[in-house]
Amino acid sequence: MTEILKRAKILEPSNPNKSTALFGGEASGILNWNDLAYPHFYTLRQRIRSLFWTANEVDMTQDVKQFPTLLKSEQEAFLKIIGLLATLDAPQTVAAMKIADFSTDPSVKSLMATIADQESEHNHSYSYVLSSVTTLDKQMSSFEMGRVDEVLKQRNERIVDVYNEFALNPTIENVLKVMVYTALLEGLFFYSGFAFFYNLARNNKMVGTSTMISYINRDELEHGKAISDLFRATLGENSKYNNDKFINWVYDQFRHSVEQETVWSRYVLADVDGINLREMEGYVKYRANKMLRLLGLSEIYPDYTDNPMKWIRAYVDNFDDTKTDFFEQTSRQYVKTSDANGFDDL
Ligand code: ZN
Ligand code: ZN
Repeated sequence: MTEILKRAKILEPSNPNKSTALFGGEASGILNWNDLAYPHFYTLRQRIRSLFWTANEVDMTQDVKQFPTLLKSEQEAFLKIIGLLATLDAPQTVAAMKIADFSTDPSVKSLMATIADQESEHNHSYSYVLSSVTTLDKQMSSFEMGRVDEVLKQRNERIVDVYNEFALNPTIENVLKVMVYTALLEGLFFYSGFAFFYNLARNNKMVGTSTMISYINRDELEHGKAISDLFRATLGENSKYNNDKFINWVYDQFRHSVEQETVWSRYVLADVDGINLREMEGYVKYRANKMLRLLGLSEIYPDYTDNPMKWIRAYVDNFDDTKTDFFEQTSRQYVKTSDANGFDDL
């Protein structure tokens, strides 16, 4: 009964330049940023582009010296968490490209291409970090984690199902589900891993790695906003999915994800000094509330509307709030410059 989405063509000059729908619509394939169905997608892309960085820019000299001096438990957690991050970020490159492939809006294709490029750099950065600090054997086993570690496999089970279901059976419902899981990845799944590295950094350990992680974190927050906006727009165009059954499915995924993230953080951070696991659980719930709000839904953890992990605010909220303002300012300046170039509708 549900209709399979056709892959969008590359160029179809008989169609209009402004797309008629995000998915399952028509568009020529010619992208005019001044004639978009959703003009604010331009701003989303600009904000993401403004974050450009490459892994090789980050100086790892100190980390190379420090890694062997870390406690064994810290070294093990370090390698496991990089394994987790790599397992999540590699499919993110492909998920973004697949969303692009089936979208019939050229601005979405372009936005997703930008996100996919950053995801690919995130993945590269994990190889870069590991090749700086450890042996080839240990690098290899870190990247095997997603294939062999039972806790990690269990944790990722639903992501795998939802992503693969969309790849095999691309429908509107399945693309909406992929967006929900992308929002969960960008806004929640990475964060116990990020916390581990920020905790090292606040103890003056592995600051190069943490700097890189903070770049990735900053990107993921922008990706989370972009995918949430795309989700709301797609749901708006396909209102038959805006029903109790689908929305309850989303809430279920959030509850399940918080449980899985909590199990995972207890497994991987148990022997790490400086991270309070109850605070970690609260922080994950706080992140879940935040992502639900971005998706246009309600918070499900009323006790966690504020970040309970106070120390991490210095690392994360710094660019979550302050730097967001900075980006806004950059965007406004860009629009101002662009006025003179005829981009006045932006
Ligand atoms: Zn990423
Ligand atoms: Zn991302």
